[in-house]
Amino acid sequence: FGLKCSEKLYEAQSPFQKIEIFDTPAMGRILILDGCFMVTQKDTFIYHEMLVHPAMNILRAPRKALVIGGGDGGAVTELVKYKSLEEITLCEIDEMVTTSCREFFPEVSSGLEDPRSMSAFEDGAAFVARHSDYFDGVFVDSTDPVGPGKALYEVSFYQSIKNSLKKGGIAVFQTESPIFMADVFSETVAKLKGVFGSANAIPYLAVIPSYPGGMWSFTMCLNDSEPLIPGSCDISPEILQSLKYYNADIQSAAFGLPQFVKALAGI
Ligand code: SAM
Repeated sequence: FGLKCSEKLYEAQSPFQKIEIFDTPAMGRILILDGCFMVTQKDTFIYHEMLVHPAMNILRAPRKALVIGGGDGGAVTELVKYKSLEEITLCEIDEMVTTSCREFFPEVSSGLEDPRSMSAFEDGAAFVARHSDYFDGVFVDSTDPVGPGKALYEVSFYQSIKNSLKKGGIAVFQTESPIFMADVFSETVAKLKGVFGSANAIPYLAVIPSYPGGMWSFTMCLNDSEPLIPGSCDISPEILQSLKYYNADIQSAAFGLPQFVKALAGI
């Protein structure tokens, strides 16, 4: 998958990765980290809506949320729509990602200006290990399992996340392409089932054109002895009106998995 670029807007080498931002006729501005597509103005709303709203649909009056990775601010921008949230923390290892996205993707990163939003620029695995019984929702918006992202695919990290959640709290992980990273998807779901319980780690899908293969997975995990039931859409009409992908139909359809994905997920 490639895009014709009309202009390179930004390039920098951070202590963690190469950061590039281009303008493209087909997808608008795009953020590339170490050569991988991360954000495009055209379709990033799909990813951020589907990372956040299926879990927020289940949580009742959540007060504290954490985003790990997600330096573009897109997940935070979706979370600030929930008035019950008092504290939204972004833990991004690379401050240069956030600084550049504030400049070049203001519509994606706007949630970072919300007074409830705060940023910690450090390794998410170390940050979350310092919290216990604290968050209602944790959203892991990581890069691939390479470089600093590798720490976000370890069982110890998943255990730390579980420990950081209140009882009934939910964690959502982007779990890669079931097509082009089938092994990572399958291993990650198995690890999450091992930590949260097989009935409490459920994959779901969305279509993200700029990601390899278009089919993208997330895995939702519940910290409770009760099984995770995604349920029907119960999100307020006010929030639903602000969305461009997620809706009541998507809430049920996203959890309908193709046979090969079920097999990879051990379902
Ligand atoms: N939506 C994209 C995807 O699915 O690949 C991810 C977007 S976001 C830009 C990914 C972010 O994770 C990057 O900004 C990267 O710096 C951050 N990251 C990687 N490893 C991290 C770690 N160990 N702790 C915190 N942030 C990390």
